Parts: sequence; structure tokens; C-alpha cells
Amino acid sequence: MANEVVLSVVIPAYNEAETVEKTAGVLSQVLTRAEIDYELLFVDDGSADNTWTLIRALADASPRVRGIHFSRNFGKESAIFAGLEYARGACAAVMDCDLQHPPETLVEMYRLWEQGFEVVEARKRSRGKENPLHRACAGMFYKLMSGAMGMDMKAASDFKLLDRKACDTLLRMPERNVFFRAMSSWIGYRCTAVEFDVREREAGESKWSLRSLVAYAVKNIASYTSAPLQLVTVAGVVCLLAAAVLSVQTLVRYFSGKALEGFTTVILLLLLMGSLIMISLGIIGYYLSKIYEEIKGRPRYIVSDVTVYEPK
Ligand code: UDP
Ligand code: MG
Repeated sequence: MANEVVLSVVIPAYNEAETVEKTAGVLSQVLTRAEIDYELLFVDDGSADNTWTLIRALADASPRVRGIHFSRNFGKESAIFAGLEYARGACAAVMDCDLQHPPETLVEMYRLWEQGFEVVEARKRSRGKENPLHRACAGMFYKLMSGAMGMDMKAASDFKLLDRKACDTLLRMPERNVFFRAMSSWIGYRCTAVEFDVREREAGESKWSLRSLVAYAVKNIASYTSAPLQLVTVAGVVCLLAAAVLSVQTLVRYFSGKALEGFTTVILLLLLMGSLIMISLGIIGYYLSKIYEEIKGRPRYIVSDVTVYEPK
């Protein structure tokens, strides 16, 4: 029976009808063979296809499978946190529904947890097959993030195993805009890492478009660091220095009687300053909107349905 769960596997699923059954099957097989007491916790992130029907069927068939259904799409981060909240195990692992995270690595991570590690991170050795545009965008995205956050995000993944203690710590963090990958590093604890090769997606397509990737980058940078706000100050200082130099030049010209030329400089300066001020206001506005969201204190997700196992 699943009342003595040791490992909860949290699996966010969004329109994964093509993969849930396969994933559940493979994971069950691997974890049973490794003699681990597990539960599979599917979090249906408001899928539009029949993912939820399939999860329900799996949960009806086995006490080891449970499911949560969101009232709409809240995003992967919310799905991960919901899963951690519902997980009953002494440790919880997060992995993708498309089997890009190899189940064998999960077993390896579990063994490390048994040895006393509290946060086990799986790092990407290679990114697997992707289309070149996606790879380029992801590359740019990770560069931006790594720079802004001061940690290497390129190899980081959401494939992690956390001890109960670490889970509870994460769940106690009150912010609405959550970023699992960074937060699970930030909390500390005894950490270790394993490496894995990203496999090809089992079926279906990646759920990320270029637009959603950019939005994701901006959102996570803002939720993790206030560096862009400092950037505004830096830009201000740079402008001030430039202004000092130009002031000297202008005054020299004025006193030497050559003041009337220089409209070009005025126009260029106006344009430059105008854009800098507007960009700065935009950055400040973005943070303001994030603060507004946090202050509203809305839930990270809304659960509309959970599976209940009834032995026949
Ligand atoms: N996912 C989710 N909500 C979303 C988008 C994705 O729960 O809004 C899940 C998805 O079902 C999968 C995982 O997040 O289990 C990773 O998504 P995907 O494979 O599309 O991303 P990639 O592997 O390309 O980074
Ligand atoms: Mg994937």
C-alpha cells in the first residue's frame, strides 16, 4: 500500500495526453525494480486535452498514482509547488512528464538522498535534440539568467530531489512568483548533483514558444533578483558622467563664441535621454506590478479536482 510513501514523484503535466500513460508505466517499473516505496503525483496544469481523464484512470487503477487538477493553466512553477504541497513522501522529486529526464537518474538521486543528501540536483550534461532556433533562444535565455542571478543556470534543470525538510522550507516561502530552480538552490542544505543527458521528448511538442520563453526569463529574473533596478542607477551615473563632459565642451564653445552649432548634439541627447528614462520607468513599473501581484496575495494555483483512490 502507498501509506508508507518514501519517494513522491511530482510530475507537472500540461497537455501531455500522449505521454502520461507511458511515463507512469516506465516510472512504476523502474521504481518497483529499485524497491523504492513511491507515489506518482501528476499535477494537471489545466490541460485542454484529455490528460486529466487519463490521470484519473491511472489513479483508479493504482493506489500509487495520485493526481491534482488545476482550474486553469497556472504554469509549470505553480504546478511544481502544488505537487510539493500534496506530496506525502519523506522526499520528493520533480520531473517532466515527457521522459526527457531519465528515470534511472531518479534512482541514482534517491540513493544519494539515502546517503544523507537533502537536495539532489540533476544537471544537464547535454541538451538532447532540439531545433536550432529553440537551442539558440534557450542559450540566450540562460546567459541572461545566469548573469542576472549570479549562478550557473545553463546546466540547471527542474529535475531535483528534495528531502522533506527542504520541501517544507520551500513551501514556507510566501512569494507568489516562484522560481523552483533558483529557490531550491537558494535554500542551501546538504546539496549534491548528478549529471544526465536530456533525452528526446517521448511524444508531442515542447510547450515553449519563443514568446513564452522570453516572458519566462523576464518573470524569473524579476522574481529572483532586483539587479535590473540597479541597472537603472548605473545608467543614470553613466549619463551624468557624459553630461559633465558635454557641459564642459558646451561652455567652452559658448565662451569662445561658437555656441550656435550643435543642434545635432541636442537632438541626439534628447533622444538618448528620453529612451533611457522610458526604459528605466518600464523596469521600475515592471517591479511595481510584481509587488502589486505579491500584495494581492492571490493563491499560486487553484485546485479544482483531486483523485481519490477507492479500492473495489
Ligand atoms: N508544463 C506545465 N505547464 C506549462 C508548461 C509545461 O506543467 O504551462 C510541463 C509539461 O507538461 C512538462 C514540463 O512542464 O511535463 C516540461 O515542459 P516541456 O517538455 O514542454 O518543456 P521543455 O522540455 O521543452 O523545456
Ligand atoms: Mg520537455
